Amino acid sequence: MKSDVEIAQEAEIMPIEEIANKIGIERNAIELYGDNKAKINTGKMEKLESKKDGKLILVTAITPTPAGEGKTTTVVGLGDALQKIGKNTAIALREPSLGPVFGMKGGAAGGGYAQVVPMEDINLHFTGDFHAIGAANNLLAAMVDNHIHHGNDLQIDPRKIAWKRAVDMNDRQLRSIVDGLNGKTNGVPREDGFHITVASEIMAIFCLSNNIDELKEKLKNIIVGYTYDDQPVSAGELNAQGAMAVLLKDAMKPNLVQTLEHTPAFVHGGPFANIAHGCNSVAATKLALKSADYIVTEAGFGADLGAEKFMDIKARYANVKPSASVVVATVRALKMHGGVAKKQLNEENLDALENGLPNLLKHLENMQNVFGLPTVVAINKFPTDTDAELQLIEDKCKELGVHMVLSDVWARGSAGGEAFAKEVVKLTERDSSFTYAYELDDPLKLKIEKLVHRVYGGKGIVVTSAVEKEIARFEALGFGRLPICMAKTQYSFSDDKTKTGRPSDFDITIRGVSISAGAGFIVVLTGSIMTMPGLPKRPAAEKIDINEEGKIIGLS
Ligand code: ADP
Ligand code: MG
Repeated sequence: MKSDVEIAQEAEIMPIEEIANKIGIERNAIELYGDNKAKINTGKMEKLESKKDGKLILVTAITPTPAGEGKTTTVVGLGDALQKIGKNTAIALREPSLGPVFGMKGGAAGGGYAQVVPMEDINLHFTGDFHAIGAANNLLAAMVDNHIHHGNDLQIDPRKIAWKRAVDMNDRQLRSIVDGLNGKTNGVPREDGFHITVASEIMAIFCLSNNIDELKEKLKNIIVGYTYDDQPVSAGELNAQGAMAVLLKDAMKPNLVQTLEHTPAFVHGGPFANIAHGCNSVAATKLALKSADYIVTEAGFGADLGAEKFMDIKARYANVKPSASVVVATVRALKMHGGVAKKQLNEENLDALENGLPNLLKHLENMQNVFGLPTVVAINKFPTDTDAELQLIEDKCKELGVHMVLSDVWARGSAGGEAFAKEVVKLTERDSSFTYAYELDDPLKLKIEKLVHRVYGGKGIVVTSAVEKEIARFEALGFGRLPICMAKTQYSFSDDKTKTGRPSDFDITIRGVSISAGAGFIVVLTGSIMTMPGLPKRPAAEKIDINEEGKIIGLS
């Protein structure tokens, strides 16, 4: 079997102008980054406002295994299949981060015969967006410390600085550091640390801003730390937003590439899905909606986290409404929810498969009943699935009245997704009654409770008195109407990753809350969340190489 990078290297990539042309983007709006990548300058596009929006299809998934269940692969394959059945289609995805590329999970450009290309570029520096975001993050960090060095007029308490530095690399060594050492001329010594760039609040802001004015407004609102008497200090008080926006001006333009089958693909922005909302930029989604009739996009993690944040944060802020959703499930994840250990997931096990179905059903109920979207389950077929396993899922879905299709796009590209695409088109023609899981006017605690009851299927929340006080303080500071960004394990509906399947009767313990005042949400922590991952014992980096001809091997 060929590896992802081998398949991608054999692709015939079309000039990007031709791809843009398919969806009505004219030459003057295209800023070329080589032959196969471009940024789109929407400022140069005419009549965008008057164009009707296409139909947005959200791809989400059941509670995943650590390897991922194939959402990105499904987005690409469904996009290609829609194009194949004659629909004017575009897809919208996140940009990959270098952390996972060199760490454990690998790239994020799809897999098999459902990939976006040029895969190597997209997985590496691409058009430089993440470096620009890192630079904007670090400019603000430098300005904070510089302000303290030069007399600290704002009275920032160096022990209460909330703004960290950032680099797009898994580097645990930088998680917690002491800097400003070596005497008076070299800064003020203090404890500091790094986030990976995708966890920077700038990334979330970048992805939620419609234009430069909105970007500046949000950058201005970032809370960098607190004064000695606990008052928040903003980036605006340091006059940092203008220079940060300058660093981000090109990055803000959506990137256009293509799939292996030449479907236009917007790949833009990529925030973490725990402490941020985990989907591609609003700018790219909106441009895609104006350009094509069918737009397929992804929300990170399982539907309890990713799709929920897509609806309650992104769709709400951007005022977009999905027409339908797809819940991706795999035989291996269902078996895991039925109690099979990770090492045995490749062996046939019909009992476990059946026992795992309640997890899928809960996600499906959420998409249909909580968010009101017409939804289909797509079984992403793996080479290790047995015929008996696939048959069992089909029979059970029929019995339970679950609308299900088989997707074989990883192995066969669009040919493996035609029936799937036809189902999705039908779904988008149904009435949807899209709603949110909570209202912005709900008090912060009620918002969290609604998520726990309605989306996770739990009993309630446990809140320590320290967290109660913080919540009250946020409401007093005027942040009570912000949406919630839940940072919870992606491996369970509950906050305990060992509770697979469809747990019930559980409480969610709220261990902390923090404000992302720039991005515009309250982060609710249910466990310790790593914003600077480390590399595993044998990082993917050890297998990645390049030869004399510039050919890259080992990327996946
Ligand atoms: P997600 O977006 O849900 O995290 P990805 O689409 O990135 O998942 O897929 C995760 C990994 O699994 C990738 O390496 C991809 O190549 C692989 N993969 C996805 N679908 C299949 C499949 N049907 N068969 C084999 N491998 C697959
Ligand atoms: Mg993905």
